[in-house]
Amino acid sequence: MSGGNLKIVNPADGSIVTELETDTPESIQENFECAARGQREWAKTTLGERKKILIRFDGLLQKGKEELAKILTSETGKPIRQSRGEIGAVSERIRFFTDNFEAVMRPETAHQAKGLEEKISFEPLGVIANISAWNYPYFVGANVFVPALLTGNAVLYKPSEYSTLTGLQIVKLMTRAGVPANAFIPVVGSGETGAEILRHPLAAVFFTGSHATGLKIAQAAAKRLMKVQLELGGKDPVYICEDVDVAAAAAAAAEGAFYNCGQSCCAIERLYVHEKIHSGFLDELLEAVQGMKVGDPTDPGTDIGPLTRARQIDVLKDQIEDAQKKGGKILCGGKPVSGKGNFFEPTVVSEASSVMSLMREESFGPVIGVQKVAGDEEALRLMNDTRFGLTAGVYTGDRKRAEKILSQADAGSVYWNCCDRVSPRLPWSGRKDSGLGLTLSRRGIAAFLQPKAWHLKN
Ligand code: NDP
Repeated sequence: MSGGNLKIVNPADGSIVTELETDTPESIQENFECAARGQREWAKTTLGERKKILIRFDGLLQKGKEELAKILTSETGKPIRQSRGEIGAVSERIRFFTDNFEAVMRPETAHQAKGLEEKISFEPLGVIANISAWNYPYFVGANVFVPALLTGNAVLYKPSEYSTLTGLQIVKLMTRAGVPANAFIPVVGSGETGAEILRHPLAAVFFTGSHATGLKIAQAAAKRLMKVQLELGGKDPVYICEDVDVAAAAAAAAEGAFYNCGQSCCAIERLYVHEKIHSGFLDELLEAVQGMKVGDPTDPGTDIGPLTRARQIDVLKDQIEDAQKKGGKILCGGKPVSGKGNFFEPTVVSEASSVMSLMREESFGPVIGVQKVAGDEEALRLMNDTRFGLTAGVYTGDRKRAEKILSQADAGSVYWNCCDRVSPRLPWSGRKDSGLGLTLSRRGIAAFLQPKAWHLKN
């Protein structure tokens, strides 16, 4: 791997936003050594100091929201309203971490007897790598770098090449807030740059991205025996029961499937609809989807912008072609929008079934398959018929019924009458091919700490 230039391309029109110099093996080596020194100093600061700095960081994000949102939209194509929304909402996550990390780090007395005390203290892991995705760089980044820094770790932070400008803004504001430049270090480049970071003796790698890359990360981590945490993709199902307000459920499903152009790890990717309402639900779903405004992501009225990566267009075309061959019916959309940029028409495919790649592999775009089911048993069987296990949801007026189904869903997060939702108070974890380990909640803070067992005799 050698250094070079990274072109930042605007996915809405293909124009070059800017070019950046990438890191080299030599600069990554230097960064690693620098972070190792920086971590020792950073870990000596008090918890109160670190808390103040991270609260200040949040303040700077909120103050700069408008400009930061424009930058995010320019490189990812995220509609500007949603870019503002992401930056605004990351505040709640940062606050959760700053409010809770001290309690997680508090030493515990495990046993006390005459002449003997056993206690547990919690120490930072050391230098960690944060290899991050582009679809929600503030959310998925903050899940890692905020608790990592609060607990005294140093971070080598590699934003995705598709959200590097945002990553560099995050680093700039972190430094301005008071995090030493050698405790939070950006690494600029593509996938091979990420691989280069992992050649160093890090304490851990926290990765957010695709399953395919996650496997490579796990293999690289195994060579160094470093801790590895993977937040990967999903093929998240939602089951719509016959007792719902059909229009409201269809509007919620459209939002859950198409928000951020369908590029959310927990976007609805499969819809199972009870046969009694199937036809009416499709009408309402179509109305909701066709009411979404597709176009210029800088326009505050836009709901669906371009795909961030041009190559995803071929994935969607293949899935749709495969679905058609196997009996799927395209109710709307189905092809790229002609003209400049990576736009794809919002697409609804009915008569979907589990033999189609559309219902098996992550689409990560504005495409949804809908399958009719006879009842709860069939719905549950199909929901679990996947190699992924990130989230699963049920819409019904009956909480008991939902809880019965969701207790058998093999997924890290389950939703009743909601979807595409992440809470800082709850653990965020994927089962099966959706990941390893967790972020968020107090357990997600503990992931950045290692316990020390104290045996004290007098
Ligand atoms: P990728 O797996 O393509 O990339 C993720 C990160 O890994 C990027 O920074 C990428 O760099 C880097 N990378 C790529 N190859 C390597 C390598 N060999 N070694 C080290 N690093 C590497 O995922 P995307 O960025 O496309 O993100 C989309 C995926 O992320 C989807 O599958 C989505 O579901 C998942 N995701 C999961 C979340 C969760 O919480 N479970 C949250 C958000 C997204 P570069 O981009 O520069 O190539």
